[in-house]
Amino acid sequence: SADSTQATAPAPAAGTVSLLRRLDHIDPSSLGSYRAAGGYEMLRRAITLGPQGIIREVRDAKLMGRGGAAFPTHIKWDAVAGNPVRPHYVVCNADESEPGTFKDRVMLEADPYALVEALTIMGHACGAEQGYIYIRGEYPTAEARLAHAIGQARAHGFLGADVLGAGFAFDIEIRRGAGAYIAGEETALINSIEGKRAEPRNKPPFPAQSGLFGKPTAVNNVETLLSVLEILRVGGPAFAAVGTEASTGTRLFCLSGCVAVPGLYEYDFGVTLRDVIDGAGGVAGGRPLRAVLLGGAAGVFVGPEALDMPLTFEGVRAAGATLGSGVVLVLDDTVDLTALLRRITQFFRDESCGQCVPCRVGTVRQEELVARLVSGTPLGSVTSELALLSDIGSVARDASICGLGQTALSAVESAVKLGLIGADS
Ligand code: NAD
Ligand code: SF4
Repeated sequence: SADSTQATAPAPAAGTVSLLRRLDHIDPSSLGSYRAAGGYEMLRRAITLGPQGIIREVRDAKLMGRGGAAFPTHIKWDAVAGNPVRPHYVVCNADESEPGTFKDRVMLEADPYALVEALTIMGHACGAEQGYIYIRGEYPTAEARLAHAIGQARAHGFLGADVLGAGFAFDIEIRRGAGAYIAGEETALINSIEGKRAEPRNKPPFPAQSGLFGKPTAVNNVETLLSVLEILRVGGPAFAAVGTEASTGTRLFCLSGCVAVPGLYEYDFGVTLRDVIDGAGGVAGGRPLRAVLLGGAAGVFVGPEALDMPLTFEGVRAAGATLGSGVVLVLDDTVDLTALLRRITQFFRDESCGQCVPCRVGTVRQEELVARLVSGTPLGSVTSELALLSDIGSVARDASICGLGQTALSAVESAVKLGLIGADS
């Protein structure tokens, strides 16, 4: 099991699953340092297994994507690998923009070779010769370290025309985002790599059927890919034995807000919200907990009564919550929640790409409505405002093209449910 911050943890034991295992134990600019810590052994193992063998391990591990939707990774990889249309592409989504999320930045700055190795394994499994890493533009240090790692990997035969002399070609290019939250949506990201506006496409077809340049494409985020290295290290069944039956392996959590020791933490799936907050030193200053924003701006607020909720896909789903990108934003009794809610609504108003009406108009209406509620100037009554909010929420959920519109009202709606807003205005 894993339980560590990025700053202070001792190196974990060999048999455990730990995405943070090399953090602070290697020099991120040195291929030699990465290899001395076991780096590139997983690529050798992957080559021995072959593409179908890799996908079998990922299936046995029951790995679900860590981007928020929890889609089984092996199904996506298998769909690309088996698609007769050529060429195939693999893409790593490192455009982490969800407010409160910083795990990709920490991992890429501290352990860049791991992502390069993992994407090479994904490329081999999916039959792709070209991979892309789409990185958030505001992460210049991570980008520079990744670029250096790719250059070193190429110079030493870990990338190129004949990877490790195993008879397959693979190379990686970096693409940098330009500050748009929506570019993290996989089809918007694909459009951006193609040089187009980062606007989501309708799905289906999924990228596995028609993705980058209309070709079969697998897109996974950084945490999912780093989990694949751990799967190959311990074996699929051993990975599946960590966590719960339906949520296997470990999860990275970004602890922020009113906690004593904010930072990046890793836990086996199944840990409770209370344990995660306690692991970060508890609520700062021992103050009472008012609420937790789980999953970021696209997530939901939960109250202190949810502290014993197991943080698994099934556990949060049963509670009407989400793990999203692993954000745990802790709020004590002194936080101005109305200001936070207004900020969230402004964020979605600004970040909607404007392509479809329910999201473009709904995010503006939500922002206006919340502003009226928090300033105590409802149109009509608070009850009619809340009914309108609920209507806007259902239309956005049902009729928006992408996840942004579908989740843009979730945080405010959960705040209403918890009585954080609208109760006594
Ligand atoms: P989705 O359910 O449409 O797809 C999930 C993944 O599975 C995608 O890669 C998709 O291509 C693939 N997929 C789905 N069905 C498939 C099929 N039949 N064949 C092949 N591949 C298939 O979800 P999404 O729109 O990609 O993401 C929505 C999620 O994103 C939400 O759950 C939300 O929580 C999350 N989100 C994450 C962030 C973040 O920063 N990580 C931000 C906002 C939202
Ligand atoms: Fe753009 Fe919003 Fe529609 Fe997504 S839901 S395509 S962000 S307008």
